Amino acid sequence: MTYVIHGETGDWEVVIGLEVHAQVISEAKLFSGAATAFGAAPNSQVSLVDAAMPGMLPVLNGVCVEQAVRTGLGLNADINMTSVFERKNYFYADLPAGYQISQYQHPIVGEGTIVLDLADGSTREVGIERLHLEQDAGKSLHDQDPRRTFVDLNRAGVALMEIVSKPDIRSPEEAGAYLRKLRSILRYLGTCDGNMEQGSLRCDVNVSVRPRGENELRTRTEIKNVNSVRFVMQAIEWEAERQVSAYEAGESVVQETRLYDPATGETRPMRAKEFAHDYRYFPDPDLLPLRLTPEEVDRIRADLPELPDHKRDRFMTQYGLSAADAGVLVAEREMAAYFETVATGRDAKTAANWLTTNLFALLNKKGLGITQSPVSADALGKLIDLIADGTISGRIAKDVFEIMAESGSDAETIVTERNLKQISDSGAIEAAIAAIVADNPQQVDQFKAGNEKVIGWFVGRIMKATQGKANPQKVNELLRQRLSDA
Ligand code: MN
Repeated sequence: MTYVIHGETGDWEVVIGLEVHAQVISEAKLFSGAATAFGAAPNSQVSLVDAAMPGMLPVLNGVCVEQAVRTGLGLNADINMTSVFERKNYFYADLPAGYQISQYQHPIVGEGTIVLDLADGSTREVGIERLHLEQDAGKSLHDQDPRRTFVDLNRAGVALMEIVSKPDIRSPEEAGAYLRKLRSILRYLGTCDGNMEQGSLRCDVNVSVRPRGENELRTRTEIKNVNSVRFVMQAIEWEAERQVSAYEAGESVVQETRLYDPATGETRPMRAKEFAHDYRYFPDPDLLPLRLTPEEVDRIRADLPELPDHKRDRFMTQYGLSAADAGVLVAEREMAAYFETVATGRDAKTAANWLTTNLFALLNKKGLGITQSPVSADALGKLIDLIADGTISGRIAKDVFEIMAESGSDAETIVTERNLKQISDSGAIEAAIAAIVADNPQQVDQFKAGNEKVIGWFVGRIMKATQGKANPQKVNELLRQRLSDA
Protein backbone atom coordinates (compact mmCIF):
# COMPACT_ATOMS: atom_id res chain seq x y z
CA MET A 1 0.00 0.00 0.00
CA THR A 2 2.49 2.61 -1.15
CA TYR A 3 1.20 6.15 -1.10
CA VAL A 4 2.70 8.26 -3.86
CA ILE A 5 1.94 11.75 -5.10
CA HIS A 6 2.35 11.87 -8.86
CA GLY A 7 3.83 15.31 -9.52
CA GLU A 8 4.75 17.06 -12.76
CA THR A 9 8.40 16.16 -12.21
CA GLY A 10 7.91 12.62 -10.92
CA ASP A 11 6.74 10.66 -7.91
CA TRP A 12 6.91 12.03 -4.37
CA GLU A 13 6.89 10.24 -1.03
CA VAL A 14 5.30 11.66 2.12
CA VAL A 15 7.06 11.44 5.49
CA ILE A 16 4.90 11.82 8.57
CA GLY A 17 5.57 11.93 12.29
CA LEU A 18 2.86 12.40 14.90
CA GLU A 19 3.02 14.06 18.31
CA VAL A 20 0.04 13.14 20.41
CA HIS A 21 -0.95 14.87 23.64
CA ALA A 22 -2.94 12.37 25.69
CA GLN A 23 -4.66 13.51 28.87
CA VAL A 24 -3.80 11.18 31.73
CA ILE A 25 -6.73 9.57 33.53
CA SER A 26 -6.25 10.82 37.09
CA GLU A 27 -8.57 12.46 39.56
CA ALA A 28 -6.03 15.15 40.39
CA LYS A 29 -3.63 17.27 38.34
CA LEU A 30 0.05 16.54 37.75
CA PHE A 31 1.38 18.84 40.49
CA SER A 32 -1.72 19.82 42.50
CA GLY A 33 -4.76 18.23 44.14
CA ALA A 34 -7.27 20.14 42.01
CA ALA A 35 -9.90 18.04 40.21
CA THR A 36 -9.81 17.25 36.48
CA ALA A 37 -13.48 16.52 35.63
CA PHE A 38 -14.53 17.58 32.13
CA GLY A 39 -17.19 20.26 31.72
CA ALA A 40 -16.96 21.84 35.20
CA ALA A 41 -17.80 25.54 35.65
CA PRO A 42 -14.88 27.78 34.54
CA ASN A 43 -12.13 28.23 37.14
CA SER A 44 -13.84 25.90 39.62
CA GLN A 45 -10.97 23.40 39.55
CA VAL A 46 -7.97 25.62 40.13
CA SER A 47 -5.58 25.35 43.06
CA LEU A 48 -3.12 28.05 44.09
CA VAL A 49 -0.39 26.03 42.36
CA ASP A 50 -2.33 25.98 39.06
CA ALA A 51 -2.89 29.74 39.34
CA ALA A 52 0.86 30.16 39.95
CA MET A 53 0.48 32.17 43.13
CA PRO A 54 3.86 33.30 44.49
CA GLY A 55 5.52 30.80 46.77
CA MET A 56 3.37 27.82 45.79
CA LEU A 57 5.27 24.59 45.26
CA PRO A 58 4.40 21.72 42.92
CA VAL A 59 3.91 18.25 44.44
CA LEU A 60 4.21 15.38 41.97
CA ASN A 61 1.12 13.15 41.66
CA GLY A 62 2.24 9.51 41.89
CA VAL A 63 -0.83 8.25 39.99
CA CYS A 64 0.18 10.23 36.89
CA VAL A 65 3.69 8.76 37.06
CA GLU A 66 2.27 5.23 37.23
CA GLN A 67 0.00 5.97 34.28
CA ALA A 68 2.97 7.14 32.19
CA VAL A 69 4.95 4.01 33.09
CA ARG A 70 1.94 1.81 32.31
CA THR A 71 1.60 3.50 28.92
CA GLY A 72 5.30 3.10 28.22
CA LEU A 73 5.08 -0.63 28.97
CA GLY A 74 2.01 -0.91 26.73
CA LEU A 75 4.03 0.64 23.89
CA ASN A 76 6.86 -1.88 24.43
CA ALA A 77 9.06 1.06 25.35
CA ASP A 78 12.11 1.58 27.55
CA ILE A 79 11.24 2.99 30.96
CA ASN A 80 13.84 5.47 32.16
CA MET A 81 14.59 4.95 35.83
CA THR A 82 15.57 8.60 36.14
CA SER A 83 13.75 11.45 34.44
CA VAL A 84 13.83 15.21 34.94
CA PHE A 85 11.12 17.86 34.92
CA GLU A 86 12.18 21.06 33.20
CA ARG A 87 10.63 24.45 32.72
CA LYS A 88 9.64 25.31 29.16
CA ASN A 89 9.44 29.09 29.22
CA TYR A 90 6.98 31.06 27.15
CA PHE A 91 4.39 33.72 27.78
CA TYR A 92 0.71 33.21 27.20
CA ALA A 93 -2.38 34.49 29.01
CA ASP A 94 -3.57 30.98 29.85
CA LEU A 95 -0.19 30.01 31.32
CA PRO A 96 0.03 32.01 34.56
CA ALA A 97 3.46 30.73 35.64
CA GLY A 98 5.07 31.88 32.39
CA TYR A 99 6.42 28.38 31.90
CA GLN A 100 5.11 24.87 31.42
CA ILE A 101 6.62 22.07 33.51
CA SER A 102 7.58 19.41 31.00
CA GLN A 103 10.32 16.87 30.41
CA TYR A 104 12.96 17.59 27.81
CA GLN A 105 16.36 15.97 27.95
CA HIS A 106 15.33 13.09 30.18
CA PRO A 107 11.79 11.85 29.49
CA ILE A 108 10.20 9.14 31.63
CA VAL A 109 9.76 6.80 28.62
CA GLY A 110 12.18 6.17 25.74
CA GLU A 111 11.90 4.25 22.47
CA GLY A 112 9.04 1.84 21.77
CA THR A 113 6.86 0.55 18.93
CA ILE A 114 3.29 0.48 17.72
CA VAL A 115 2.03 -2.13 15.26
CA LEU A 116 -0.35 -0.68 12.66
CA ASP A 117 -3.21 -2.83 11.38
CA LEU A 118 -3.79 -1.80 7.78
CA ALA A 119 -6.94 -2.15 5.74
CA ASP A 120 -5.54 -4.97 3.57
CA GLY A 121 -4.91 -7.09 6.70
CA SER A 122 -1.17 -6.44 6.71
CA THR A 123 0.69 -4.93 9.66
CA ARG A 124 3.52 -2.42 9.91
CA GLU A 125 5.66 -1.24 12.82
CA VAL A 126 6.08 2.45 13.63
CA GLY A 127 8.72 3.54 16.11
CA ILE A 128 7.95 5.59 19.21
CA GLU A 129 10.65 8.15 19.89
CA ARG A 130 9.64 9.03 23.46
CA LEU A 131 6.85 9.73 25.91
CA HIS A 132 7.11 12.52 28.46
CA LEU A 133 4.90 13.97 31.17
CA GLU A 134 3.92 17.62 31.13
CA GLN A 135 1.25 20.06 32.28
CA ASP A 136 -1.58 21.25 30.11
CA ALA A 137 -2.23 24.98 29.80
CA GLY A 138 -5.50 26.79 30.53
CA LYS A 139 -7.93 27.88 27.87
CA SER A 140 -8.51 31.35 26.44
CA LEU A 141 -12.18 31.98 25.70
CA HIS A 142 -12.50 34.46 22.83
CA ASP A 143 -16.21 33.99 22.18
CA GLN A 144 -17.76 35.01 25.51
CA ASP A 145 -17.50 38.77 25.13
CA PRO A 146 -17.15 40.99 22.03
CA ARG A 147 -14.15 42.90 23.35
CA ARG A 148 -12.51 40.84 26.05
CA THR A 149 -10.89 37.43 26.29
CA PHE A 150 -11.58 35.32 29.36
CA VAL A 151 -9.31 32.63 30.75
CA ASP A 152 -10.43 29.30 32.19
CA LEU A 153 -7.69 27.64 34.24
CA ASN A 154 -9.51 24.35 34.89
CA ARG A 155 -7.23 22.58 32.45
CA ALA A 156 -4.08 24.35 33.67
CA GLY A 157 -1.83 21.77 35.29
CA VAL A 158 -3.73 18.70 34.10
CA ALA A 159 -1.29 15.86 33.34
CA LEU A 160 -0.55 15.12 29.70
CA MET A 161 1.55 12.42 28.12
CA GLU A 162 3.22 13.69 24.97
CA ILE A 163 3.82 10.66 22.78
CA VAL A 164 6.16 11.31 19.86
CA SER A 165 6.44 8.89 16.93
CA LYS A 166 9.44 8.49 14.69
CA PRO A 167 8.99 9.82 11.14
CA ASP A 168 8.07 6.29 10.04
CA ILE A 169 4.56 6.97 8.75
CA ARG A 170 4.18 7.09 4.96
CA SER A 171 0.53 7.77 4.12
CA PRO A 172 -2.64 9.37 5.48
CA GLU A 173 -4.07 5.85 5.96
CA GLU A 174 -1.09 4.83 8.09
CA ALA A 175 -1.46 8.00 10.16
CA GLY A 176 -5.11 7.11 10.75
CA ALA A 177 -4.18 3.53 11.66
CA TYR A 178 -1.52 4.83 14.06
CA LEU A 179 -3.97 7.08 15.88
CA ARG A 180 -6.63 4.39 16.07
CA LYS A 181 -4.15 1.87 17.43
CA LEU A 182 -2.63 4.29 19.92
CA ARG A 183 -6.09 5.24 21.17
CA SER A 184 -7.03 1.58 21.45
CA ILE A 185 -3.92 0.79 23.53
CA LEU A 186 -4.45 3.81 25.81
CA ARG A 187 -8.06 2.80 26.42
CA TYR A 188 -7.13 -0.83 27.13
CA LEU A 189 -4.55 0.43 29.63
CA GLY A 190 -6.98 2.88 31.20
CA THR A 191 -4.42 5.68 30.99
CA CYS A 192 -6.35 8.04 28.66
CA ASP A 193 -10.00 7.97 27.59
CA GLY A 194 -9.00 8.79 24.00
CA ASN A 195 -11.86 11.21 23.52
CA MET A 196 -10.75 13.50 20.69
CA GLU A 197 -13.88 15.72 20.77
CA GLN A 198 -13.30 16.59 24.41
CA GLY A 199 -9.63 17.21 23.69
CA SER A 200 -8.25 14.33 25.74
CA LEU A 201 -6.33 13.24 22.67
CA ARG A 202 -4.85 15.97 20.46
CA CYS A 203 -2.58 15.44 17.52
CA ASP A 204 0.20 17.55 16.01
CA VAL A 205 1.18 16.34 12.55
CA ASN A 206 4.68 16.74 11.09
CA VAL A 207 4.72 16.46 7.31
CA SER A 208 7.46 16.62 4.71
CA VAL A 209 7.79 15.30 1.18
CA ARG A 210 10.72 14.10 -0.91
CA PRO A 211 11.22 12.71 -4.41
CA ARG A 212 10.71 8.96 -4.32
CA GLY A 213 14.06 7.27 -3.70
CA GLU A 214 15.67 10.28 -1.99
CA ASN A 215 17.08 9.39 1.45
CA GLU A 216 17.44 12.76 3.14
CA LEU A 217 14.52 14.21 5.03
CA ARG A 218 13.40 17.58 3.72
CA THR A 219 11.99 20.53 5.69
CA ARG A 220 8.83 19.67 7.58
CA THR A 221 5.87 21.70 8.67
CA GLU A 222 3.86 21.03 11.80
CA ILE A 223 0.08 21.12 11.75
CA LYS A 224 -1.14 21.89 15.29
CA ASN A 225 -3.96 20.40 17.33
CA VAL A 226 -5.94 18.41 14.81
CA ASN A 227 -8.84 16.85 16.67
CA SER A 228 -10.13 13.91 14.66
CA VAL A 229 -8.62 10.97 12.80
CA ARG A 230 -10.37 12.02 9.61
CA PHE A 231 -9.05 15.58 9.87
CA VAL A 232 -5.52 14.29 10.46
CA MET A 233 -5.74 12.27 7.24
CA GLN A 234 -7.21 15.17 5.27
CA ALA A 235 -4.67 17.65 6.63
CA ILE A 236 -1.78 15.38 5.60
CA GLU A 237 -3.15 14.93 2.10
CA TRP A 238 -3.62 18.66 1.57
CA GLU A 239 -0.30 19.67 3.12
CA ALA A 240 1.69 17.06 1.16
CA GLU A 241 0.15 18.25 -2.11
CA ARG A 242 0.94 21.85 -1.18
CA GLN A 243 4.60 21.03 -0.52
CA VAL A 244 4.97 19.08 -3.76
CA SER A 245 3.49 21.98 -5.73
CA ALA A 246 5.86 24.40 -3.96
CA TYR A 247 8.95 22.33 -4.83
CA GLU A 248 7.82 21.82 -8.39
CA ALA A 249 7.27 25.57 -8.79
CA GLY A 250 10.88 26.10 -7.71
CA GLU A 251 9.91 27.44 -4.30
CA SER A 252 11.06 26.13 -0.95
CA VAL A 253 9.11 24.83 2.02
CA VAL A 254 9.56 26.86 5.19
CA GLN A 255 9.70 25.22 8.60
CA GLU A 256 6.62 26.60 10.30
CA THR A 257 3.58 25.78 12.38
CA ARG A 258 0.32 25.59 10.45
CA LEU A 259 -3.34 25.29 11.29
CA TYR A 260 -5.83 22.94 9.67
CA ASP A 261 -9.22 24.38 8.83
CA PRO A 262 -11.84 21.59 8.67
CA ALA A 263 -14.26 23.92 6.87
CA THR A 264 -11.99 24.32 3.82
CA GLY A 265 -9.81 21.21 4.22
CA GLU A 266 -6.74 23.46 3.94
CA THR A 267 -3.77 24.23 6.15
CA ARG A 268 -2.53 27.80 6.61
CA PRO A 269 0.51 29.29 8.32
CA MET A 270 0.15 30.14 12.02
CA ARG A 271 3.66 31.10 13.14
CA ALA A 272 7.29 30.52 12.27
CA LYS A 273 8.49 27.31 13.87
CA GLU A 274 10.07 27.84 17.24
CA PHE A 275 13.13 25.82 18.20
CA ALA A 276 13.91 24.15 21.50
CA HIS A 277 16.45 26.84 22.39
CA ASP A 278 13.72 29.50 22.18
CA TYR A 279 12.18 28.02 25.31
CA ARG A 280 15.25 28.28 27.56
CA TYR A 281 14.59 24.85 29.07
CA PHE A 282 16.19 24.24 32.46
CA PRO A 283 15.54 21.69 35.25
CA ASP A 284 12.76 22.90 37.55
CA PRO A 285 14.49 23.82 40.84
CA ASP A 286 11.27 23.04 42.74
CA LEU A 287 11.29 19.38 41.69
CA LEU A 288 13.82 16.62 42.32
CA PRO A 289 14.73 14.25 39.52
CA LEU A 290 12.09 11.52 39.32
CA ARG A 291 13.57 8.14 40.24
CA LEU A 292 11.76 4.83 39.76
CA THR A 293 12.75 1.47 41.19
CA PRO A 294 12.73 -1.80 39.19
CA GLU A 295 10.22 -3.15 41.74
CA GLU A 296 7.76 -0.33 41.01
CA VAL A 297 8.03 -0.91 37.26
CA ASP A 298 7.67 -4.69 37.68
CA ARG A 299 4.57 -4.23 39.82
CA ILE A 300 2.94 -2.12 37.09
CA ARG A 301 4.04 -4.59 34.41
CA ALA A 302 2.49 -7.51 36.31
CA ASP A 303 -0.78 -5.61 36.37
CA LEU A 304 -1.04 -4.91 32.61
CA PRO A 305 -4.18 -6.19 30.83
CA GLU A 306 -4.05 -8.29 27.69
CA LEU A 307 -3.43 -5.72 24.94
CA PRO A 308 -4.98 -5.60 21.44
CA ASP A 309 -2.09 -7.23 19.50
CA HIS A 310 -1.92 -10.17 21.87
CA LYS A 311 -5.68 -10.50 21.99
CA ARG A 312 -5.88 -10.47 18.17
CA ASP A 313 -3.35 -13.31 17.95
CA ARG A 314 -5.25 -15.27 20.57
CA PHE A 315 -8.57 -14.74 18.76
CA MET A 316 -6.97 -16.10 15.57
CA THR A 317 -5.60 -19.26 17.21
CA GLN A 318 -8.31 -19.89 19.80
CA TYR A 319 -11.33 -19.05 17.65
CA GLY A 320 -9.94 -19.55 14.14
CA LEU A 321 -10.79 -15.97 13.08
CA SER A 322 -9.19 -14.16 10.13
CA ALA A 323 -6.71 -11.39 10.91
CA ALA A 324 -9.21 -8.81 9.65
CA ASP A 325 -12.11 -10.05 11.81
CA ALA A 326 -9.91 -10.46 14.87
CA GLY A 327 -8.49 -6.97 14.29
CA VAL A 328 -11.86 -5.20 14.30
CA LEU A 329 -13.15 -7.22 17.24
CA VAL A 330 -10.21 -6.37 19.51
CA ALA A 331 -10.04 -2.65 18.68
CA GLU A 332 -12.20 -1.97 21.73
CA ARG A 333 -11.83 -3.97 24.91
CA GLU A 334 -15.58 -3.98 25.51
CA MET A 335 -16.25 -5.27 21.97
CA ALA A 336 -13.72 -8.08 22.49
CA ALA A 337 -15.43 -9.04 25.77
CA TYR A 338 -18.84 -8.98 24.06
CA PHE A 339 -17.51 -11.29 21.35
CA GLU A 340 -16.06 -13.75 23.82
CA THR A 341 -19.37 -13.96 25.68
CA VAL A 342 -21.21 -14.74 22.42
CA ALA A 343 -18.54 -17.15 21.14
CA THR A 344 -18.19 -19.21 24.30
CA GLY A 345 -19.83 -22.60 23.76
CA ARG A 346 -20.91 -21.66 20.21
CA ASP A 347 -19.45 -21.62 16.72
CA ALA A 348 -16.97 -18.73 16.97
CA LYS A 349 -16.99 -17.85 13.27
CA THR A 350 -20.77 -17.55 13.30
CA ALA A 351 -20.49 -15.33 16.37
CA ALA A 352 -17.84 -13.16 14.67
CA ASN A 353 -20.03 -12.85 11.57
CA TRP A 354 -22.99 -11.71 13.59
CA LEU A 355 -20.92 -9.04 15.29
CA THR A 356 -19.13 -7.69 12.21
CA THR A 357 -22.25 -7.57 10.07
CA ASN A 358 -25.57 -7.26 11.93
CA LEU A 359 -24.39 -5.86 15.26
CA PHE A 360 -21.95 -3.33 13.72
CA ALA A 361 -24.66 -2.18 11.30
CA LEU A 362 -27.14 -1.74 14.15
CA LEU A 363 -24.70 0.24 16.31
CA ASN A 364 -23.68 2.40 13.33
CA LYS A 365 -27.27 3.14 12.43
CA LYS A 366 -28.11 4.17 15.97
CA GLY A 367 -24.80 5.92 16.61
CA LEU A 368 -24.17 3.82 19.71
CA GLY A 369 -21.06 2.31 21.25
CA ILE A 370 -20.87 -1.36 22.19
CA THR A 371 -21.53 -0.62 25.86
CA GLN A 372 -24.89 0.92 24.88
CA SER A 373 -25.89 -1.91 22.57
CA PRO A 374 -29.66 -2.54 22.73
CA VAL A 375 -28.97 -6.27 22.30
CA SER A 376 -26.79 -7.82 25.00
CA ALA A 377 -24.18 -10.49 24.30
CA ASP A 378 -26.26 -13.10 26.10
CA ALA A 379 -29.35 -12.21 24.08
CA LEU A 380 -27.46 -12.43 20.78
CA GLY A 381 -25.99 -15.75 21.86
CA LYS A 382 -29.46 -17.17 22.44
CA LEU A 383 -30.58 -16.00 19.03
CA ILE A 384 -27.64 -17.81 17.44
CA ASP A 385 -28.62 -20.94 19.38
CA LEU A 386 -32.04 -20.85 17.72
CA ILE A 387 -30.40 -20.91 14.29
CA ALA A 388 -28.00 -23.66 15.31
CA ASP A 389 -30.78 -25.99 16.55
CA GLY A 390 -32.90 -25.36 13.44
CA THR A 391 -35.70 -23.46 15.20
CA ILE A 392 -35.36 -20.50 12.84
CA SER A 393 -33.58 -19.90 9.54
CA GLY A 394 -30.65 -17.50 9.22
CA ARG A 395 -32.86 -15.25 7.11
CA ILE A 396 -35.57 -14.98 9.76
CA ALA A 397 -32.92 -14.53 12.45
CA LYS A 398 -31.99 -11.18 10.91
CA ASP A 399 -35.57 -9.98 11.31
CA VAL A 400 -35.71 -11.32 14.86
CA PHE A 401 -32.49 -9.43 15.64
CA GLU A 402 -34.02 -6.16 14.43
CA ILE A 403 -37.13 -6.75 16.54
CA MET A 404 -34.92 -7.54 19.56
CA ALA A 405 -33.12 -4.21 19.10
CA GLU A 406 -36.38 -2.28 18.92
CA SER A 407 -38.42 -4.09 21.57
CA GLY A 408 -35.78 -5.28 24.03
CA SER A 409 -37.56 -8.64 23.97
CA ASP A 410 -35.64 -11.92 23.79
CA ALA A 411 -35.35 -14.08 20.68
CA GLU A 412 -37.38 -17.01 21.93
CA THR A 413 -40.39 -14.88 22.92
CA ILE A 414 -40.36 -13.09 19.58
CA VAL A 415 -40.17 -16.34 17.61
CA THR A 416 -43.05 -17.87 19.56
CA GLU A 417 -45.28 -14.80 19.61
CA ARG A 418 -44.84 -14.06 15.93
CA ASN A 419 -44.93 -17.68 14.84
CA LEU A 420 -41.56 -17.52 13.08
CA LYS A 421 -40.45 -21.09 13.63
CA GLN A 422 -38.82 -22.67 10.64
CA ILE A 423 -40.91 -25.17 8.71
CA SER A 424 -38.86 -28.35 8.48
CA ASP A 425 -41.86 -30.63 8.21
CA SER A 426 -41.62 -32.28 4.77
CA GLY A 427 -45.39 -32.43 4.27
CA ALA A 428 -45.91 -28.68 4.59
CA ILE A 429 -42.96 -27.89 2.33
CA GLU A 430 -43.99 -30.46 -0.27
CA ALA A 431 -47.46 -28.91 -0.41
CA ALA A 432 -45.98 -25.48 -1.12
CA ILE A 433 -43.68 -26.96 -3.78
CA ALA A 434 -46.49 -28.86 -5.45
CA ALA A 435 -48.63 -25.74 -5.78
CA ILE A 436 -45.86 -23.64 -7.31
CA VAL A 437 -44.63 -26.38 -9.66
CA ALA A 438 -48.19 -26.93 -10.89
CA ASP A 439 -48.63 -23.19 -11.57
CA ASN A 440 -45.42 -22.83 -13.59
CA PRO A 441 -45.13 -25.53 -16.27
CA GLN A 442 -42.92 -23.26 -18.43
CA GLN A 443 -40.20 -23.13 -15.76
CA VAL A 444 -40.47 -26.88 -15.28
CA ASP A 445 -39.75 -27.33 -18.99
CA GLN A 446 -36.78 -25.01 -18.73
CA PHE A 447 -35.37 -27.13 -15.92
CA LYS A 448 -35.87 -30.28 -17.95
CA ALA A 449 -34.02 -28.61 -20.83
CA GLY A 450 -30.99 -28.30 -18.52
CA ASN A 451 -31.45 -24.77 -17.13
CA GLU A 452 -30.13 -25.08 -13.55
CA LYS A 453 -30.70 -21.41 -12.77
CA VAL A 454 -34.42 -21.93 -12.68
CA ILE A 455 -33.94 -23.82 -9.37
CA GLY A 456 -33.08 -20.53 -7.68
CA TRP A 457 -36.20 -18.97 -9.12
CA PHE A 458 -38.36 -21.76 -7.69
CA VAL A 459 -36.67 -21.57 -4.28
CA GLY A 460 -37.40 -17.84 -4.15
CA ARG A 461 -41.08 -18.46 -4.90
CA ILE A 462 -41.37 -21.19 -2.29
CA MET A 463 -39.65 -19.15 0.41
CA LYS A 464 -42.00 -16.30 -0.35
CA ALA A 465 -45.02 -18.58 -0.13
CA THR A 466 -43.87 -19.76 3.32
CA GLN A 467 -43.02 -16.22 4.56
CA GLY A 468 -39.35 -17.19 4.57
CA LYS A 469 -39.96 -19.83 7.20
CA ALA A 470 -39.26 -22.96 5.16
CA ASN A 471 -35.95 -24.66 5.87
CA PRO A 472 -33.99 -23.70 2.72
CA GLN A 473 -31.99 -26.94 2.65
CA LYS A 474 -35.15 -29.00 2.79
CA VAL A 475 -36.73 -26.85 0.08
CA ASN A 476 -33.77 -27.45 -2.22
CA GLU A 477 -33.76 -31.16 -1.61
CA LEU A 478 -37.51 -31.71 -2.01
CA LEU A 479 -37.75 -29.36 -5.00
CA ARG A 480 -35.10 -31.26 -6.95
CA GLN A 481 -36.85 -34.52 -6.22
CA ARG A 482 -40.15 -33.10 -7.36
CA LEU A 483 -38.75 -31.60 -10.57
CA SER A 484 -37.00 -34.76 -11.62
CA ASP A 485 -40.20 -36.70 -10.97
CA ALA A 486 -42.30 -34.21 -12.93
MN1 MN B 1 3.82 19.27 24.48
